[in-house]
Amino acid sequence: MARSVFLFNTHDLPHRAGEMREYELDLKITEAVGVDLLSVKPGEIIEVDLRIQAVEEGVLATARVIADATGECTRCLKPIIWPIDESFTELYYYESSTSKSTKKHSSRGKSKKDEEIDLDEDELSFLDGDDIDLEPAIRDAIILNLAVNPLCSEDCPGLAEKSGENWAYLSASQSQTPTDQRWAALKDFPLKN
Ligand SMILES: [Zn+2]
Repeated sequence: MARSVFLFNTHDLPHRAGEMREYELDLKITEAVGVDLLSVKPGEIIEVDLRIQAVEEGVLATARVIADATGECTRCLKPIIWPIDESFTELYYYESSTSKSTKKHSSRGKSKKDEEIDLDEDELSFLDGDDIDLEPAIRDAIILNLAVNPLCSEDCPGLAEKSGENWAYLSASQSQTPTDQRWAALKDFPLKN
């Protein structure tokens, strides 16, 4: 299986709190990132300005995500480009028993069901060896920026209004033509000599 472009190896960062490294990444994606109507397409680049810092519990990633999503205006179907520029911060915990037991203590002694504790742990991100997986954070950053019903411009007249006009025009001319009595009389008028 090909290694995900979103996996970032942090081996250059010493595991000593206070250490920091910065990177400029160009991630060429292989699957669309976004929603149905608007997404960064496969083969496009997502630019990530990444800063990783070693902290007590793990690696803190701060990133700026820059990309262009493309899609269609939901009113007039014109192609549109939707620039994305969003930042996120994500803490990746060292995968040690210490961090997990700390987390359980933080539920303040309340007796939680097992499944709830599992859910809590699913929301945390952990290092996998030296790797951090940037994909969920990048996906969230991009999707947060996308409109559910994208428009080419705020005042796009759209197709709906145009077809409405057409319909009004047609019905007006239809109602004039055949039933007007003056024209009906002409039908029987002898034009030939
Ligand atoms: Zn439009």
